[in-house]
Amino acid sequence: MSGPAILKLSAWGARVLEEKNYQFKILVNWLNQKSEEAVRVLVQTAISEFGGKMIKNTNPFEIPNRLWIFLLSKYDINEELRWSELGKKVKNKMVQLLYIDEYEVSGKTTFKEEFVTCGGVSLSDVNIRTMESKICPGIYFSGELLDIDGITGGFNFQAAWTTGFIAGKLSSS
Ligand SMILES: Cc1cc2nc3c(=O)[nH]c(=O)nc-3n(C[C@H](O)[C@H](O)[C@H](O)COP(=O)(O)OP(=O)(O)OC[C@H]3O[C@@H](n4cnc5c(N)ncnc54)[C@H](O)[C@@H]3O)c2cc1C
Repeated sequence: MSGPAILKLSAWGARVLEEKNYQFKILVNWLNQKSEEAVRVLVQTAISEFGGKMIKNTNPFEIPNRLWIFLLSKYDINEELRWSELGKKVKNKMVQLLYIDEYEVSGKTTFKEEFVTCGGVSLSDVNIRTMESKICPGIYFSGELLDIDGITGGFNFQAAWTTGFIAGKLSSS
């Protein structure tokens, strides 16, 4: 699992994931539909629209073709089937693969693919105008040492540079 969505989720859920020792199930709603019924309607619409076409050649959903083929195979759905040939069981499987596709997570990726460390010195213990510790005057904190998780995309660098600048400038003046 990678990409912007999973990066954000792993940042927002960092503490929960740590508690679970990175062993958990993840359910993916590929079409961003709010209900199972809405996905069922989309599948039914595809059946009426593409009846005679093979499901492997007709991906009516907003997911990449390679992912579509992968999901069909993951759920043991014969990709040679035509839309009109889907029985009730296969239709249910298709709704499941699009709506609550399940994966077992068993750990993090290797070190260095993590962008920012969750946790650190609490911001409430730091004077934000000077970055000086409120608990131990004379010590200044910046960057990763602070409990800032700026979500990937540049905010962590900005936080490190800004807090480093403030701490460096004010601690030396
Ligand atoms: C793979 C990856 C991709 C990233 N991509 C982005 C991104 O796209 N955008 C973004 O905003 N942020 C990104 N980050 C996060 C960003 O790099 C960090 O938040 C930022 O560099 C933190 O700066 P820092 O100076 O606080 O800490 P660091 O850059 O970690 O600097 C700490 C320094 O202290 C040194 N050090 C450690 N212990 C000691 C010791 N005992 N004595 C002396 N020196 C020591 C280390 O060697 C290191 O040089 C990424 C991080 C990683 C790992």
